[in-house]
Amino acid sequence: MSSNPRVGFVSLGCPKALVDTERILSQLQAEGYSTASDYQGSDLVVVNTCGFLDSAREESLEAIGEALTENGQVVVTGCLGTEAELIRAAHPNVLAITGPHQYEAVVSAIHEVLPPPHDPFMDLIPPQGIKLTPKHYAYLKISEGCNHQCSFCIIPQLRGNLVSRLAGDVLREAEELVKAGVQELLVISQDTSAYGVDIHYAKSQWRDRAITTRMTELCTALGELGVWIRLHYVYPYPHVDELLSLMKEQKLLPYLDVPFQHASNRLLRAMKRPAAEARTLERIREWRRQVPNLTIRSTFIVGFPGETEDDFKFLLDWLEEAELDRVGCFRYEAVDGAAANQLGNAVPEELKEERWHRLMEAQQKISAKRLQERIGQEIQVIIDEIRENEAIGRSEGDAPEIDGKVLITGNTFNVGDIVRARVEKAGPYDLWATCAL
Ligand code: SF4
Repeated sequence: MSSNPRVGFVSLGCPKALVDTERILSQLQAEGYSTASDYQGSDLVVVNTCGFLDSAREESLEAIGEALTENGQVVVTGCLGTEAELIRAAHPNVLAITGPHQYEAVVSAIHEVLPPPHDPFMDLIPPQGIKLTPKHYAYLKISEGCNHQCSFCIIPQLRGNLVSRLAGDVLREAEELVKAGVQELLVISQDTSAYGVDIHYAKSQWRDRAITTRMTELCTALGELGVWIRLHYVYPYPHVDELLSLMKEQKLLPYLDVPFQHASNRLLRAMKRPAAEARTLERIREWRRQVPNLTIRSTFIVGFPGETEDDFKFLLDWLEEAELDRVGCFRYEAVDGAAANQLGNAVPEELKEERWHRLMEAQQKISAKRLQERIGQEIQVIIDEIRENEAIGRSEGDAPEIDGKVLITGNTFNVGDIVRARVEKAGPYDLWATCAL
């Protein structure tokens, strides 16, 4: 008899559920698990349920009960898994409940109870996977694809509609990264605010509780890991306001990367931007009232088809009012396949170039003014690099690669340390500080 961990399957319902079972089985076999054909020969049983008719629901609940009596270690998946409360009320001892098409979640639940066998090849890969970032920070991808149709973008054509990862899976990955020494997690996706909408904010198990697959709930749980959590690509939907209390409690960095792309309503409509609204300036003011040290980063496009001098001036005035901390700017490019190419009224290249310079110049003054206000303040800095007499790091308001740096003199640190420093000098992008220990 095989000494590998053995998983038994009870598969109810339609051919789609059967295909789900096949996929879970294939994954488990690839990882070295064996399958068993009876309860007694299984270390754990997966019950793939059906929830279509009352009779099918009844049959599924009975099958779970039987597996619990005969084996005791039961993971539930399939259509009835979307009604976790119903299952828990009838069978509180099931180990985990996942919904249909959630292969990753079923396999992770099995890993937790019954770890995969030793594999000399797979074991060369660290539990957090292979990362190309330095050891002290890592990107955490929470979803793939996008449900919007911004007219300048072909990502939905390339990567498909939004597919969110279950919060439990994201959190387990985050935990592995923290165990491996990561001090800063950068949450990324195409649209972080839309996280979970595609799977109806399904719940999944993490530690001793069920977590809803939604931005605020995910951030609340990430905030328990005790490392810096930085959010990217946050669209200003109303529920973004919920993040402010997490920032006040220092569970989330006071940093928002919000890709506004323009300020003129006419152009935002032509761009088909999500969550574009006239009250954005008001919301920015309110965010800053609640979290005074909030850093807001954004990107803009100049030279979008049909952008007039008035639209562009409106954008410059808006930037003066908004006083964003960090701004990136792109000259519009007619990407093959993008709907905006059909709009006509292309802006000549020289004009795009001129607008780009005007915007960057105006914004440089704004960024410099915002950084000047930091002089004399004590800030936290994460150390990225050590040089002979200086350490180079980033403040809570600086994401790696895209934002500024903090140069600290006068002490010795290790890469990945988070230290307190006093700001002595500011340029348009970077800060100079001394250690405040
Ligand atoms: S630019 Fe628009 S369509 Fe493209 S990924 Fe972002 S939100 Fe989605």
